[in-house]
Amino acid sequence: MHPQVHEAVPAIDYLYPMLLNLEKIAQTDKKRVVIVGGGFAGLELAKTLSKADVQVVLIDKHNFHTFQPLLYQVATAGIEASSIIHPYRRILQDQDNTYFRMAEAQSVNTATNTLETSIGFIRYDYLVIATGATANFYGNTELQEKAISLKSIEDALLLRNTIISNFEKALQVNDEEQLNSLMDFVIVGGGPTGVEIAGALSELRKHVFPKGFKELNFVNMDIHLIQSGPDLLKGMSPMASKKAYQYLEEFGVKVWLNRRVKSFDGYKVTLDNGEQLCSRVLIWAAGVTGAPLHGLETQSMAGNRYKVDEYNRVNGYDNIFAIGDIAAMITPEYPDGCPMLAQPAIQQGRQLGENILRYQAGKNQRPLNILTAAPWPLSAVTRRWPTSASLTAKYAPKASGPG
Ligand SMILES: Cc1cc2nc3c(=O)[nH]c(=O)nc-3n(C[C@H](O)[C@H](O)[C@H](O)COP(=O)(O)OP(=O)(O)OC[C@H]3O[C@@H](n4cnc5c(N)ncnc54)[C@H](O)[C@@H]3O)c2cc1C
Repeated sequence: MHPQVHEAVPAIDYLYPMLLNLEKIAQTDKKRVVIVGGGFAGLELAKTLSKADVQVVLIDKHNFHTFQPLLYQVATAGIEASSIIHPYRRILQDQDNTYFRMAEAQSVNTATNTLETSIGFIRYDYLVIATGATANFYGNTELQEKAISLKSIEDALLLRNTIISNFEKALQVNDEEQLNSLMDFVIVGGGPTGVEIAGALSELRKHVFPKGFKELNFVNMDIHLIQSGPDLLKGMSPMASKKAYQYLEEFGVKVWLNRRVKSFDGYKVTLDNGEQLCSRVLIWAAGVTGAPLHGLETQSMAGNRYKVDEYNRVNGYDNIFAIGDIAAMITPEYPDGCPMLAQPAIQQGRQLGENILRYQAGKNQRPLNILTAAPWPLSAVTRRWPTSASLTAKYAPKASGPG
């Protein structure tokens, strides 16, 4: 069992005593494309197929698409959750060839071309896995249990509520260590997400929290950012890394380079050199890993991602594809697989959809050129990745609230 698939499951009502086939999906002679995951990749594919002569079934464990790049804004109370979640049923309501089902996909039977989900089985002609990624705790179950990650709207709201309720508790506390534990934050991971959260919290400490909690002294609120390597924003330019460091220092964030978190008991964070920080909130932004399904052969896997060719076909299968964060398209430029970012995910979804259309029109399919696919987010130092603006323009709130 892949824990990352099963533990992040939201409240789907398991009222299905016997697993049957998915009901009320027309049996036609059209090819059926089953897409698992309506993130940037899966949703783009579903939309690209709106006019295709296929039946599309989109399956997601939520009934809304989440605009992940703005999760940290929800977590830090900058915007409401309803601004970054968009109901699939509303997005797809004009697509006559498309069905949506809220369900958790569990395993694939490649012999029968069947997908097992939490609400029943569905046969596919083409299966597209677009399940994205989940927080990677590198096997540390204590951290997984006690830290807060930032991959879903539930995570963002948990963090937001925890921050506010800790400040409410702090009003009743005089002991210095207890106050620190309630008001200080430790963020693990100096990549874009960690840097963004640290920056957002430091601005809130200066401009927002003191207005709401007048009796608390926010000069004493420490924000610690722990990074295992020598640089922030590893993988970006040395300039971006340097600027991020400077920016955070100016904003009073305590940046700890070359340090790892060893343990967290819910009150004390212990670093690998034995030093301890007192905080009840440990925000985990130290990496992500793919969220695969069961049932595919191990030769299809590159770690927790699916190895795909330049057409996003999963290694070893003709009718199974993977797109977005879950797909490891390994090229000389990207020996670890293409970057786990929204732009490549969107491009892969669109490209696969267009290839299906080309195939139906008897035309040659086009391979994905990842070099042109991924405008890299160069500057997280301003807490706003350049890609966020263009993504927001494309995907952001037209409708609000889960459907
Ligand atoms: C906090 C944060 C900030 C980010 N900021 C940026 C940014 O500024 N710029 C940028 O380019 N990228 C950013 N990213 C990365 C970007 O969001 C991802 O690369 C992108 O979402 C990947 O798209 P995807 O479609 O592969 O997966 P996702 O968007 O993760 O979607 C996967 C979908 O699959 C569903 N799912 C998963 N497992 C199952 C299952 N078993 N059954 C049914 N449904 C399932 C999930 O509910 C989800 O809807 C950020 C990510 C995070 C977490």
